[in-house]
Amino acid sequence: MALEEYRKKRDFTKTPEPAGVIKQPKGAERFFCVQKHLASHLHYDFRLEHNGVLLSWAVPKGPSLDPKTKRLAMKVEDHPLEYGEFEGVIPEGYGAGIVMLWDRGTWTPEADDVDAALKKGDLKCTLNGYKLKGSWVLVRTGGRYPGARGGGAGAPGSGDGRTWLLIKHRDEWSGDLDITEFAPKSVKSGGDFEDILAADTPAVWQSNRPAKGGDAGAMFAAIIERAAALKAGRAAPGNAPRRGAAPKAATSSKPKPAPKPRQSRKTRP
Ligand code: MN
Repeated sequence: MALEEYRKKRDFTKTPEPAGVIKQPKGAERFFCVQKHLASHLHYDFRLEHNGVLLSWAVPKGPSLDPKTKRLAMKVEDHPLEYGEFEGVIPEGYGAGIVMLWDRGTWTPEADDVDAALKKGDLKCTLNGYKLKGSWVLVRTGGRYPGARGGGAGAPGSGDGRTWLLIKHRDEWSGDLDITEFAPKSVKSGGDFEDILAADTPAVWQSNRPAKGGDAGAMFAAIIERAAALKAGRAAPGNAPRRGAAPKAATSSKPKPAPKPRQSRKTRP
């Protein structure tokens, strides 16, 4: 595994994303995370630590806790381990948009040989995140997924091994709660997309937005407007921070629980 493809797509003089150093994992505890990424389309990047990098799948609709709901997961290039803590704004280039650390924790493979499971296209894993827990499976479809049929050989979904499904196994953590609706915010900062953008540069896309039309375009328009209002409110002298506003990007790497609904932030003296 290497990070050539990851690095090739990015200009690290222009993006705040890490260039990456390959490290060997220590012990059996492996990191996992899900990054909610608003770019040309909204999607959720599902990442599992293995052999010093993050194996990565882009899940357009995000994970579902319902075992009957199979979610398309497109295998993408491995990412550096430290990418798993990244949250912020990618101003331009590959993946331009906003990345939110939506969930993180540890994972355990349910079989001894992860490489064999990946080769077979059937990776069972137990997740211990803040939002996602219990037993899951990533299963390669060989392009049999109806919504993912490509054109000729090598096209996505035509059997090139990129098309997988993310499925929850039935256990005490499965159910019909829509987890992406129920818990939409960051586990790192507690904020939503507009808070992440407000903490950066709300005016970054005045001319060239990552998405113009469709759902993603509408989301960007609303988020940019709210981020500008948040920034203006914060900058005005004598203005108290908006109740419930996200704190400035957290620097601690220690996990903390996702914020509980209606919990008010205590003002420090
Ligand atoms: Mn992405």
